[in-house]
Amino acid sequence: MNKFEQLGLNESLLKAILDLGFENPSEVQEKAIPLLLEKDTDMVALAQTGTGKTAAFGFPLIQKIDADNRNTQALVLSPTRELCLQITNELKNYSKYEKGINVVAVYGGASITEQAREIKRGAQIIVATPGRMQDMINRGLVNIKNIDYCVLDEADEMLNMGFYEDIVSILSDTPDEKSTWLFSATMPQEVARIAKQFMSEPLEITVGTKNSGSSTVSHEFYLVNARDRYEALKRLADANPDIFSVVFCRTKRDTQAIAEKLIEDGYSAAALHGDLSQAQRDGVMKSFRGRQIQMLVATDVAARGIDVDNVTHVVNYQLPDEIETYNHRSGRTGRAGKLGTSIVIVTKSELRKISSIERIIKQKFEEKSIPSGIEICEIQLLHLANKIKDTEVDHEIDNYLPAINNVLEDLSKEELIKKMVSVEFNRFIAYYKKNRDISTQSSGERRERGDSEPREFNNNGAVRYFVNIGSRDNFDWMSLKDYLKETLDLGRDDIFKVDVKEGFSFFNTDPQFTDKVMDVLNNVQLEGRRINVEISKNDGGGRRDHNNRGGGRRDSNRRDGNFAPRREGGFRSDRNSSRDGGSREGGSRDGGFRSDRNSAPRREGGFRNSAPRNENGGSDRAPRRSENFGDSSRPRRSRRD
Ligand code: ADP
Ligand code: MG
Repeated sequence: MNKFEQLGLNESLLKAILDLGFENPSEVQEKAIPLLLEKDTDMVALAQTGTGKTAAFGFPLIQKIDADNRNTQALVLSPTRELCLQITNELKNYSKYEKGINVVAVYGGASITEQAREIKRGAQIIVATPGRMQDMINRGLVNIKNIDYCVLDEADEMLNMGFYEDIVSILSDTPDEKSTWLFSATMPQEVARIAKQFMSEPLEITVGTKNSGSSTVSHEFYLVNARDRYEALKRLADANPDIFSVVFCRTKRDTQAIAEKLIEDGYSAAALHGDLSQAQRDGVMKSFRGRQIQMLVATDVAARGIDVDNVTHVVNYQLPDEIETYNHRSGRTGRAGKLGTSIVIVTKSELRKISSIERIIKQKFEEKSIPSGIEICEIQLLHLANKIKDTEVDHEIDNYLPAINNVLEDLSKEELIKKMVSVEFNRFIAYYKKNRDISTQSSGERRERGDSEPREFNNNGAVRYFVNIGSRDNFDWMSLKDYLKETLDLGRDDIFKVDVKEGFSFFNTDPQFTDKVMDVLNNVQLEGRRINVEISKNDGGGRRDHNNRGGGRRDSNRRDGNFAPRREGGFRSDRNSSRDGGSREGGSRDGGFRSDRNSAPRREGGFRNSAPRNENGGSDRAPRRSENFGDSSRPRRSRRD
């Protein structure tokens, strides 16, 4: 039996639900619908955005309305015109097989007389914004004195917007015997006050976890061999220079071990787990909040409820046993309307879990491949270039310029740029040249995957592009894909492996579209800025994946297959280890552009000055020399904020 049927919904609704494609009720629906159908009661339902609240009140409302009676029986108040229209539309969809039900939207900015006319024609349900509703009442254009149901949707938002007086006044115009259903994401005092004032013994339901339907978190998985887990983690960090993440492991031991390895390898990481003292945990959290730690490696228990803004990635180093736990984890990112990514590093034997999670969270994962060394080099270098461009100059530097100019005066601008960038590039190349490719892919295992599947598995010969728009232009991979699809007039499957970075992105198409991509994109503007697209040197993992599977190439690289090579002062050698704190003499002094490689990287050298500065209390020798190009010890993600 269909789960919606079990909730007590009638035929015509079930049919509409089938059309909507809802397979299972969300939690708030499961809880609210039977109660609301069963009796006439007041209700307070607390559930976050995107949990399916509209249907939670909409289904029972449609079922309870008397379609033969043309009087207004229900009023739904919602904060904005957009929501008002959206709800109206949804209610119409729900009731499409129910003859005679009319839903009318009442909101500002449109003709009030027309709205009044529609109501007069016999609207059983009015969906209204409080301001316009109040207006209508004042003008005697509507009668809500006999309604049976009043829904306050997004009550917290309505009160935030200053509709308290309107709501009170509107509610005073309704009968006492009606049922009031209040839906809200949060329960601030004002909401509680409304509930107390206008509701009698409301049933209360609370829904803990987000149904990620409209969530700000996108989900990705990377398939790797078990022995490559750690290497994959490092590369993901390298491919996301501004990463600010919580990395979840299953045990305290793994948590500690992974954090230690990351620190050894030069990342600003720390462990958070139950074996630490309270003071240690507080210290770690303080550093994390202050962004001195970029990768917080944590157990589920220790990280529960961590509420740090702007976490860019949640990394599931290992998947949890409980799917519910996955929800708690991914909820650490994408907070307060920001975008976030939940990454799963997964091995073949765990692939089935991905599908189970997809079913529960009602969101698809995108399968991605671990970036190749070349791709990482490209990302880091462009990041560097952007950083140079965006760096604000402190004029203290003027004092040193004569001496610097003296050294560099014979170089042309081109040479200078090349050399500056090579400081980093040589290191990247040296590091990644000898590291084999670790990406792998899931072939036939996940047949239930979405529309990108065939492409993901068959992009031999694809062309990879670099384009100068990214998350700072408010794109994530989904919206960029949509944008490209529309701009280029291509189908969904024609654009794939979209990878969005801060100031730039990558994507693939088949070669047949290359001319079109180059012609069209290079001639459009995005908010006044010229878009620049180029063919990227790397193939974005398309071919790489395939060629590397089996075949002889891996064998020839086998000697490089050692697990987790040390970073050897790699390109992120500026990363501080929380262990040595970067405050040691040696560490903090030899800033600048080191090209030598020491095996225990500290913070010297790199271009990402994201390392902890105040590990030593900020008291150490005032602004360190121009160790790096871009100062800003904070990763620059302000634009996304
Ligand atoms: P809320 O009001 O809680 O923010 P909505 O009612 O707007 O959430 O629903 C968010 C999204 O989830 C909508 O796109 C809606 O169509 C979809 N949705 C709602 N219920 C279900 C369900 N049971 N199954 C699948 N999708 C659903
Ligand atoms: Mg809603």
